[in-house]
Amino acid sequence: MVNMAKLSEHKTDLVRLAAVALALCLSWLKAWKAFLPFDAIALAATLIGGYPMFEEAFEGIKKRRMTMEISMSIAVAATLAIGQFFTALIITFFVLFAELLEDLTVSRGRDVIKKLLELLPSQVIVRRNGQENEMHVNDLALRDIVIVRPGARIPVDGVVLKGRSSVNQASITGESFPVEKTEGHKVLAGTINQTGVLEIQTAAVGQDTTFGKIISIIGQAEKNRAPIQKVADKLAASLVYFAFGGAIVTYALTHNIVSAISALVVAGACGVAAGTPLAILASIGRTAKEGIITKGGIHFEQLARIDTVVLDKTGTLTFGTPEVTDIESFNGLKKEDILQLAASVEQHSEHPLAEAILKKQKDSGLCLLPYSNLEYLPGQGLVCRVNGSEILVGNTSFMDKKFIKGQTKVIEYIDRRKNSTETTVFVAKNQEIIGAISFADVIRVEARQAIEDLKGFGCQVILLTGDNWAIAKKIGETLQLDKIFAEMLPQQKLEKIRELMQEGKKVAMIGDGINDAPALMEATVGIAMGSGTDVALESAGVTLTTNNLMKIVEALKISRQCLRVIMFNFWGTVVVDAAGMIFAFLGYLTPLFAALIHVSSELAFILNSARLFRKNKDKPPLAG
Ligand code: ADP
Ligand code: MG
Repeated sequence: MVNMAKLSEHKTDLVRLAAVALALCLSWLKAWKAFLPFDAIALAATLIGGYPMFEEAFEGIKKRRMTMEISMSIAVAATLAIGQFFTALIITFFVLFAELLEDLTVSRGRDVIKKLLELLPSQVIVRRNGQENEMHVNDLALRDIVIVRPGARIPVDGVVLKGRSSVNQASITGESFPVEKTEGHKVLAGTINQTGVLEIQTAAVGQDTTFGKIISIIGQAEKNRAPIQKVADKLAASLVYFAFGGAIVTYALTHNIVSAISALVVAGACGVAAGTPLAILASIGRTAKEGIITKGGIHFEQLARIDTVVLDKTGTLTFGTPEVTDIESFNGLKKEDILQLAASVEQHSEHPLAEAILKKQKDSGLCLLPYSNLEYLPGQGLVCRVNGSEILVGNTSFMDKKFIKGQTKVIEYIDRRKNSTETTVFVAKNQEIIGAISFADVIRVEARQAIEDLKGFGCQVILLTGDNWAIAKKIGETLQLDKIFAEMLPQQKLEKIRELMQEGKKVAMIGDGINDAPALMEATVGIAMGSGTDVALESAGVTLTTNNLMKIVEALKISRQCLRVIMFNFWGTVVVDAAGMIFAFLGYLTPLFAALIHVSSELAFILNSARLFRKNKDKPPLAG
């Protein structure tokens, strides 16, 4: 656990510890006692060893902040005052020792995050004007062509121009299944090129890469403190007051200064002060490795308290890559014409349905027509002018809103498809519905398992979709969801989240981050699915770098473990301090023994937090 490079960073602390240890050894050699001025040595070693503690105590007093250093300094001073130099020395030794171990564990936690950054290679091979040269990644220009050999990490975000390889994206997604990459595919900095040579056109470097953004978010996360950290700090401060109070009462009632010092030393142990941030740091680091990016301790703590999980449908519960299954024409127009009109309207839309329409249009070899005056109503559809006509593409409520009536054929069509699980959008031209396009989207393979697990955590699982009721019901049955709400506009989704929260629910909203951004921001915790898209990273407190629903389960699990550890430390500290106080009062504790209890309990709680770095090594493989 202790590594040498780390130790040298703490050199002065080590020297102090050694000085104290030496003095301790000397004092044990009773035979020398006659020749050595033992008390003077113990006093000197206590002062040298305790210096940082006295200094911090002084700082605390100046800032009027009650700290453990104050109570311990006073205990040491009192012990010296009653002439127990050896005891003072041992207390100092324990405090120093605990401090050093604590520093090492915490800095090891920070290292996990720092090491992530070091993953990016600094030297890259670039081809400019037909010449291949090695240069520093910072000297790269956008659109430079970078050559990445097998086994090397990809240094930039970009697009593959040439080559074929499998790439391990675990550093971003937490999933170690290699992904096939070839011409035209996007690749991300920090991922590992495994099998072939890739020529990549640079799109982003360093801080601007997805990887860079993720790291800066994690780096910031520690500063974004969880409310529970404030509780921990308060608890630590109260325990110090408690220690003083106990010591005073003990002295007042027993007139035994040694018992009073023991009381002061044993209580006010504050493993919680260091243990709490450490637990959160460890857990944020661990979730990051799984591809779960948390923006701060606060979101992480809220995650642990979630009791309601709200899921969006398209792109969240489903793969979000629907395919056009059917095109219907109502008034004699060719299906191709309907497709072409719809595609022209959708040509700049990012909605999954738009992408499906555009794919179909491309596959059918149709060209796109220019459009003007485009208006987009999220969750409903679009309207614009194409070739002088007003064209609408959207769902029934959009058609209603625009006062567009369908003839009997349309009503029959809707009736016929009442029980279908396919999504339908209508195409209208000059106030008349001329066609319909149907889509099939597939439910994610892991959805069932994820929902079962979430329910196992005691969460209520709710579907919130803009799509129609028939589809929502079908999905609700298949996945055994607790509740479904369909035909919801983005604004209504937002209101539903608000409603749930007003009922006192702690709501996690999971969406794709594109048109669910308002709901994501409103929920107790917004979780964005979306392979590291920028919008998602901005609007949600938690972002999944993969679209794997099991990561939500994982995130909940880790955050709950973290909170459990913190709460255990809280109660453990209170119990140990209170019990120690009682023993001290009854005169069963010497200051020496009190110091031993103080330090070992503190270390136990810190190590309990540090355990979170390692948990879950044997987790089951996640569905991809
Ligand atoms: P979900 O809640 O399932 O993610 P959205 O809120 O994104 O769904 O959209 C709800 C409905 O609004 C869609 O099923 C579709 O009928 C309509 N819609 C939204 N955007 C578009 C678009 N770009 N083109 C056509 N229809 C759209
Ligand atoms: Mg959606």
